[in-house]
Amino acid sequence: MKAIALISGGLDSMLAARVIKDLGIEVIGLHFDICFGRHRKRLLGLVEEPIHWVEDSLSIELRTVDIAEAFLDVLKKPKHGYGANMNPCIDCKILMLKKSREIMQDLGASFVITGEVLGQRPMSQHRDALMRIERESGLEGLLLRPLSAKLLPLTTPEVLGWVDRAQLLKISGRSRKDQKELIGRYNIKDYPNAAGGCLLTDPGFSKRLQDLIARNALTLENIELLKVGRYLKISEDSRLIVGRDEKENGFLAGIAKDSDFLFMPAGVMGPLALGRGNFNEALIKLACRITCRYCDLNNSISADIIYKKKNGKEESLNVTPAGEDEIDRFRL
Ligand code: SF4
Repeated sequence: MKAIALISGGLDSMLAARVIKDLGIEVIGLHFDICFGRHRKRLLGLVEEPIHWVEDSLSIELRTVDIAEAFLDVLKKPKHGYGANMNPCIDCKILMLKKSREIMQDLGASFVITGEVLGQRPMSQHRDALMRIERESGLEGLLLRPLSAKLLPLTTPEVLGWVDRAQLLKISGRSRKDQKELIGRYNIKDYPNAAGGCLLTDPGFSKRLQDLIARNALTLENIELLKVGRYLKISEDSRLIVGRDEKENGFLAGIAKDSDFLFMPAGVMGPLALGRGNFNEALIKLACRITCRYCDLNNSISADIIYKKKNGKEESLNVTPAGEDEIDRFRL
């Protein structure tokens, strides 16, 4: 008997997989990458990908499935709407489970498990939402939520005796008490932080994302720019992202497109800034002044700022720094 487990990188999905694995069922983990779990620290290589040590800790085969492009369509117009921020959780789960159903068939697995807990999240984990997700993903009867199974209708794996219902759990609500007990029971020494979740639940990130959607500019390349640095809207169709440290400067230089502008100081320490969109002379000067604001001017009142298209010819302007009030107006 084989089952597919959705592994988010959080504790609940890890525990759900462990419960089923301990019943002697082969569990294959699927981690769906929608591109909103890759936080700044992970993008910059400052922390280990949590998904790797989930794999080590569970000792299961884990596959990462990139569904970022398909998810963008969901994100633009989710059938079931957004949560408190730009998180379309119900549609997101339906998409992941539809993909799981296809993969389940390819791998010869018999059912799918998730770490969902009844009543834990207001949007997607109340009873009606759980039932709707199951129905619309086409997994009716074949979706088992081991952590809350005893509080939910019987599933095919339980009815047919593939899984002993008595071994499943009845966790509900937002308290983590039961999960902590399970951590002790399974002697799990290290586990992911529940708060490390999805960027779509972050209000500041959601605001920047709404700006992309409103401009019909929701692409994976533009989304990466929302994740690092100071994000400034310097005109209706121009954005300037200013690196805050060496890692961010390197990241921005690495993801710049040929049509992007790069701004950096000459002769003094300072950031790299990436300009995307339409830049006329006035905006180039403004971008240079903003870059200058974050330079170490060593008591000087101005600095030379080099600017160029990614692979283009370098030019430079000597500018004084933009003021803090002026920059504040551009922040998103
Ligand atoms: S928080 Fe919601 S939108 Fe984000 S990954 Fe989870 S289900 Fe998907």
